[in-house]
Amino acid sequence: MSSALPFLPFALPEIGEDEINEVVDTLRSGWVTTGPKAKRFEQDFAAFLGEPQIECIAVNSATAGLHLALEACGIGPGDEVITTTHTFTATAEVVRYLGADVVLVDIDPATLNIDPKLVEAAITPRTRCIIPVHYAGLAVDMIAILDIARKHGLRVVEDAAHALPTTLERELIGTMGSDATVFSFYANKTMTTGEGGMLVTRNAELAKRARVMRLHGMNRDAFDRFTAKTPSWYYEIVAPGFKYNMTDIAAALGIHQLKRLPGFQKRREQIAQAYNDAFADLPLILPPQAIEGDVHSWHLYVLRLSDELEIERDTFIERMYAMGIGCSVHYIPLHLHPYWRERYGLRPEQFPHSQRAFERVLSIPLYTAMTDADVQRVIAAVRAIAG
Ligand SMILES: *Cc1c(COP(=O)(O)O)cnc(C)c1O
Repeated sequence: MSSALPFLPFALPEIGEDEINEVVDTLRSGWVTTGPKAKRFEQDFAAFLGEPQIECIAVNSATAGLHLALEACGIGPGDEVITTTHTFTATAEVVRYLGADVVLVDIDPATLNIDPKLVEAAITPRTRCIIPVHYAGLAVDMIAILDIARKHGLRVVEDAAHALPTTLERELIGTMGSDATVFSFYANKTMTTGEGGMLVTRNAELAKRARVMRLHGMNRDAFDRFTAKTPSWYYEIVAPGFKYNMTDIAAALGIHQLKRLPGFQKRREQIAQAYNDAFADLPLILPPQAIEGDVHSWHLYVLRLSDELEIERDTFIERMYAMGIGCSVHYIPLHLHPYWRERYGLRPEQFPHSQRAFERVLSIPLYTAMTDADVQRVIAAVRAIAG
């Protein structure tokens, strides 16, 4: 039907003139690495969250931010960290960086988010931390997770790579009261800095440790030394840190993407609503909605093929590609990947809901750079295959 149309990719960033001008300004300024723009981006992010005093630490990826957050929580060998199998490997790999063990649990089939009951059942004397993932941009039941954590004395680090801006009970994710929340600005996320992330915490001590570990374990960063009035060459190494700082070139993008985020979210909501309306009569399970009054970031629009639909998921995706439309699968669960499967002797039967979801899910294009015609084209393709 649409062989003449150009390929519609699964995801694309939307970069405007303001972002480009700010990057050019940075390039001309003589300060390209972490400096004034990274600082401004951190301040703007805190303001966006509605808490100017909350600590925002800009990093070069969400993976880095998760690593720093867990390190600052003191996670190490002998500890166990509980997370969902239905996620990207970054959520769990950072636990292994620190020599701790990952305990994977299944999802709630209604939300595809981690099931708090299974979290509680997985707690052992070695458990130290829970990493909930707000899958696709729908908030995890943080009230339940924080309750469990309080009851058992556990840390909570939120993987909010999908959850900007997502709310639960009208509170933005990032302000729910966990130990730390980490957002991603990877190219396909709800806003982008190319590569980048933000670690958010109200815990001043955790923030201090993460800032030091972000840059080699130095007690003063380069911008601080460069702009200081006292002799600027002196610093001390207080720990074997990492190289996780965000550059000002990336922050220049972030400053303007953040300003556009409310508009981006509205557009995503609009596209998701168009899909919901167009697919309501098809043998498809539509994505779960946020609770009335709350915000779903709509990072992903995940369709599930119902049992009535005999077509295999892989065939569905092949047919979408044949019509020139990119799709993806979120996720190949961690328990199916060789590393995780072999490291912990995992079997699909341990994760029936994630396994079942994996076999029947596909993510269709949903991004702000899509035109209305692009949206209609996706709708027509899905209807042609599933109708
Ligand atoms: C994208 C993503 C990450 C990693 O983000 P980066 O910024 O690429 O490091 C972590 N967790 C989830 C669930 C993601 O989707």
